Amino acid sequence: MTGTKRVIAIDIDEVTADFISYFIYFHNLMYKTKMTKNEVLNYSLYKAFETDKDEMSIRFAEFSALHLLERIAPVEGAVEGIKALIKKGYQPKLVTARPKVIEKETKNWLKIHFRGIDLPLYFSRDKNDHSIKKSIICADIGAKILIDDHLDNAYDCASEGITVFLMDAPWNKTEDLPANVIRVKSWLEILKKIK
Ligand SMILES: [Mg+2]
Repeated sequence: MTGTKRVIAIDIDEVTADFISYFIYFHNLMYKTKMTKNEVLNYSLYKAFETDKDEMSIRFAEFSALHLLERIAPVEGAVEGIKALIKKGYQPKLVTARPKVIEKETKNWLKIHFRGIDLPLYFSRDKNDHSIKKSIICADIGAKILIDDHLDNAYDCASEGITVFLMDAPWNKTEDLPANVIRVKSWLEILKKIK
């Protein structure tokens, strides 16, 4: 009866995988910065670290080449939270804007932390690796709920009638959220609010 399960779209970075903490740790070591997560007010990393796009691409490629992507910790409560959603009768599906070049690393990471769990993975990227709106992916996969940390995704999906749980983060502070965007501070709070 899997066809009757309610689909929930779930973002990877900063919802499932705690990428930013590990990237900051790497960056502070390699580039002698003193960044903290609370200072990341813009999730475009080149802006947060006051460099340019090309330089940040090189730094990210180093992070990846050192196999650090596979060593990212899950967000606190994410593994238990996703299992709990499945128990409640939901079908979680991961929807990520990660570039396709790290598809293999992403799948390896999921194998480590979600072994044996049916967790389909969708990239919000077209064949040229350009981004596709998450609302379009959600429509394709039948998701009426999205869990994400990005305001752009929240506004986009909310405008298409999708309920969004916005994981609170330094880069998504605003008082001005649509009614169907619910700010949450943790996976525990998400589980309390999703019946
Ligand atoms: Mg994210």
